[in-house]
Amino acid sequence: MGTQIKTQVLVVGGGPGGYVAAIRCGQLGLDTVLVEADRLGGTCLIRGCIPSKALIQVAGKFEEIRRHVGDGTQGIRLDTPPQFDLGAAVRWKDSVVDKLDAGVNALLKKARVRTVQGWAVFSDAKTCTVETPDGALRIDAEHVILANGSRPVELPGLPFDDVVVSSTETLALERLPQRVVVVGAGYIGLELGIALRKMGAQVTIVETMERILAQYDPVLTQPVARWLKQHDVTVLFRCKAKTLKRGKQGISLQAETASGENLSLPCDRVLVTVGRRPLTQGWGLENMAVDMDGNFVKVDDRCHTSMRNVWAIGDLVGEPMLAHKASAQGEMVAEIIAGVKRRFDPVAIPAVCFTDPEIVSVGLSPTAAKARGHEVVTGNFPFAANGRALTLQAGADGGFVRVTARKDNHVVLGIDAVGAHVSDLSGEFSHALEMGARLEDLALTIHAHPTLSEALPEASLAALGHAIHI
Ligand code: FAD
Repeated sequence: MGTQIKTQVLVVGGGPGGYVAAIRCGQLGLDTVLVEADRLGGTCLIRGCIPSKALIQVAGKFEEIRRHVGDGTQGIRLDTPPQFDLGAAVRWKDSVVDKLDAGVNALLKKARVRTVQGWAVFSDAKTCTVETPDGALRIDAEHVILANGSRPVELPGLPFDDVVVSSTETLALERLPQRVVVVGAGYIGLELGIALRKMGAQVTIVETMERILAQYDPVLTQPVARWLKQHDVTVLFRCKAKTLKRGKQGISLQAETASGENLSLPCDRVLVTVGRRPLTQGWGLENMAVDMDGNFVKVDDRCHTSMRNVWAIGDLVGEPMLAHKASAQGEMVAEIIAGVKRRFDPVAIPAVCFTDPEIVSVGLSPTAAKARGHEVVTGNFPFAANGRALTLQAGADGGFVRVTARKDNHVVLGIDAVGAHVSDLSGEFSHALEMGARLEDLALTIHAHPTLSEALPEASLAALGHAIHI
């Protein structure tokens, strides 16, 4: 017979949703157990956000160094081309992941959270059993926070194997494939496809829709589409990936165009990034009697499920499937359990694509605002007119900041940007929306010169009809 423990709060999943929920529970004095089958940090830290950004950074650096070979640029000249060692880059990426994983461990300890390693399987809504290295452990809880996350979607004709891989395997490649076909032009496929191209691989993207990054406003995606063209990345739109063919001539992806034409795309690796699905199977969810909302676990605006004292957060409960949304929900649920009155009603959740150039979208686009019945004013400011962007060689990629506001009272409804380093502006954009800023607030806030952030007051001034620098 195994061991049995009781706890006030049981958190399942140690990703950015679960570990943040557990830390906050611990800080609030709740007796808390966190169960994680893999490493602490979840998809985000171990095989998602952090590893991808680490390799994107390396790829960008390599591409930049290559520009100095030969005649050089900006007065820096290299006589011989740099070499790229993906295995070494991946090991460096792993060292970043290890540091953060150790940090999460330490934070959980500091908050007095008990962590259990193993796969939790629920027999009813408040009871699970975990097969740990020391035997079976039964956990009974007063509150359960489900933060099981998501898995990559597999295509029926293209099961994952040694050639057809998901983002997880791509982030752990030891050698750079020469030819990669990326299936799906969403943010994960584009981020990794662009990084692989910068490292030196030939990249083809197959997409069923008519454009890249279908969830983003088309004007924001145009500079990225231009980058792909300029860097010889072929994007096949309205094209369906079907199967993998292995023959004497090598490996090729079989695809079909909208007009019925069959294509054979030679490749060494196929990276399938067609979306992620909440992880709802294999851990006894069916024994918990919680309602579902399509593929997701159904929750109310407090992340409470239909079962008393069972809460669910993060990728498990719906879009946007982003780390910062999971963490915000986790923190909120911990506080609700501790007796604080909270609801999950952010004005906006920022979305960032770490493509080249980067894209940030916070709140409503002009089209979305109009669809909600708002009469709007908008202002754009191009990075081509921003001094800092020029010093960073980031003025010519077509980037800009756009502000969308209500015409009647100038309350800002959305801020978007595309351009180099704009991910770092996302905090200010979110802050402005969450604080209910008006165009005048943004325009009259003195921004340091020379910085990329100056494009925000300028875009606000443009919306007011009198930008200074354009
Ligand atoms: P997860 O992080 O998926 O964590 C769930 C954890 O639960 C996992 O560790 C799993 O092992 C564990 N688990 C599940 N079931 C059980 C069980 N029964 N017993 C024990 N343990 C269990 N988001 C961003 O915001 N920004 C980005 O730049 C970004 N980039 C990404 C890049 C890639 C390549 C990928 C794949 C994702 C990216 N994401 C990004 C998305 C982000 O990783 C997720 O939104 C986020 O990790 C969701 O957090 P979560 O806590 O809900 O679940």
